[in-house]
Formats: sequence, C-alpha cells, structure tokens
Amino acid sequence: MKASLNLGSISGIKIIVHWTFLFLILWVVFDELKRGGTVESILFNIAFVLAVFFCVVLHELGHALTAKRFGVNTEKITLLPIGGMASLDKIPESPKQELLVVIAGPLVNVVIAILLYLILPIQELANMNFANNLETFSNLSLQNFLLYLFIVNVGLVIFNIIPAFPMDGGRILRALLAMKIDRVKATQIAASIGQFMAIIFLLVGLLYNPFLVFIALFIFLGAYGENKMVLHLSLLKGHTVEDAMMTNITIFKPEDSMDLVVDKIISGTENNFVIIKDSTITGLLYHQDIIENSNKNLLVKDIMEVNFKVLDVDEDLKEVYNLIQSKKKSFFPVVENKKFVGAIDSINLNEYIMLQSKLAY
Ligand code: ZN
Repeated sequence: MKASLNLGSISGIKIIVHWTFLFLILWVVFDELKRGGTVESILFNIAFVLAVFFCVVLHELGHALTAKRFGVNTEKITLLPIGGMASLDKIPESPKQELLVVIAGPLVNVVIAILLYLILPIQELANMNFANNLETFSNLSLQNFLLYLFIVNVGLVIFNIIPAFPMDGGRILRALLAMKIDRVKATQIAASIGQFMAIIFLLVGLLYNPFLVFIALFIFLGAYGENKMVLHLSLLKGHTVEDAMMTNITIFKPEDSMDLVVDKIISGTENNFVIIKDSTITGLLYHQDIIENSNKNLLVKDIMEVNFKVLDVDEDLKEVYNLIQSKKKSFFPVVENKKFVGAIDSINLNEYIMLQSKLAY
C-alpha cells in the first residue's frame, strides 16, 4: 500500500505522513475510551500526539537543513507511527559533516525543551509530589500539555543519543570512530553495537511496549543494510562501469518477433535486452515486460521501453550502485564515445562486488 498524505514542503523537502500513522491516532482514541475518556480528553490526546510529531518534523528538518548546507538534498521527511525519517540523497562521507548533520536533529529537541523550560514553572512543579497531586497533573490544561511536551522532548534527546546505529546516537558514534579509523571498520563496529541494542529493545519491547518492537526491527535491519552498503561502496571506490559491465550480450532489432526474445530467455541466462537500429540504441526490453506480454503475438518495438538512461564506460561505479539501488528496473546500456559497448544490471554488479570482496580479504 502506497497511500500517504502530503502535507506540503519546506525548502523543497516534502513532508509526508505514512498511512500507518492512522493506526497511532486510532490507538490513542481506543486507549482513551478504554480508560473511560471523554471527547475532550480524546481531543487533548490527539492534539498532544500531533504536537509531538510537529517536534519530530522540526528534528528531521534539523538534519535535512544542515545536510543542505553541505550540498546534500533531502527528498522528503516521512512520518511513521514510530517516528520521523528524513530521506537524504546520501550521507556525507566526511565524519565531521556527518557529525554535524546528525547532532542537528537532537539539538532541535534540546532547544524546544529549553524554551518550554523557560515558559513553565518547572521548579514549582518539581516540588509538587506527583502521586499526591495526580488530579492537578491529569488536568486537561495548557500547562500540563506543555509540561508533557517538555518531558517528551527531553525523552527524545535521551532516546536519540543511545548508540543504536542507524539511529542518531549510533551515527554520532560512527562519525566519531571514523575520525580515528577507517570508515568501513567504524560502520561495522557501530552496526554491531546497533544490532545488540536492537535485541535489548526487542526484549524490553516484548515485555512493555509494542512500539519498541517495531523500532528494534527497524534498527536491526537498518544496521545490517547500511553496513553492507558502506562495505560495497568502499569496494567499488575507484572503479568505473567499464570494469563491471557485461559485454557478451544479445542484441535485438525493433522489428524482431517477441518469440525470438522468449526463446532467448529460455535457452540462456539473459533477462533484459538492448534494442539497436542503425547502430543506435532505440529501446530496452525488461524481463518483467517480456513475461507479461509473452502470450501475445507482438514485435519487440511494441513493448520496448524507449525512455531509459544510458551510462558511459567512464562513469563511477559508486554512483551506478546508488542508481541501481534506487531503480526497480535496473538494467542500463553502456556506451563509449557514444557507441554501444555493453550493459550493466544489479545481478552483474553484485557479482562484481562479490569478486572484489574476495580480493579485498
Ligand atoms: Zn534524528
């Protein structure tokens, strides 16, 4: 399900609410009803959740706007029931820049907490016994609203500095380590600690809080994925498309029958094909489109994709790796001096990474 709500954009960064966010609101309503809440208390709690997520957006903007200063764009900020996520185009490789980008998030919550601290009579409230004044603290007053918002912001700062990579604290740890040791090694250490923290979160979550279970899964998989990505990118450093591309590939003409293509798929291992007419690349045939149209009596030109990206042999493989990760149909023809010389896809790039990793150890 792809449904999400676009709230607009700030400095070219889209603010998106994921559809699962609705569950959080429903959960708040349900929880209040269970405790015998009134319409007023339900609205108070919904408003509070929205205020918390407003602070989360500001936190993510802290990351995104700092990244922008280092020339890194952010496509969007997504709000999930477990928190916010800024989709940066890339993470700055300089440890100092990464550190500043990461710290900017929790720093926003520190500022919010300080502002609320200045507004609220914290000293007076701290002297009151919470248990004896339960009624005062459960009033649906603006003061309580702001007090709880203060507590949540302090909580967000503490939670975010736990070194659970790829959460903020883990990224701070990675950046600090990367100032002393190799970035790949630094990421491995941070990711291992992150996965260990995720297991603790999972255990605590199973006992006390289902949200923590989701956060644990998110951290565990995130640490695994990002550790792998950093390793792959380091293996591809200094390599170009020419090193990894396939050169022994089958070419079709636009007028060829699709039966010929289907025969080729069955008899060989190639899945995607380049279509050439008069020495010009005119289209691509993707595996999925071939399968979907295999029972129709068609020609290659009827189903070939005519909008596609062409890579140059000299292009940086690190850039191609990011490109392949971001595209669903990841098959690209390669040219040298505008002449077709080969193609590259995710399977073949992964093979190349595997071979490089054997050489690296
Ligand atoms: Zn953050």
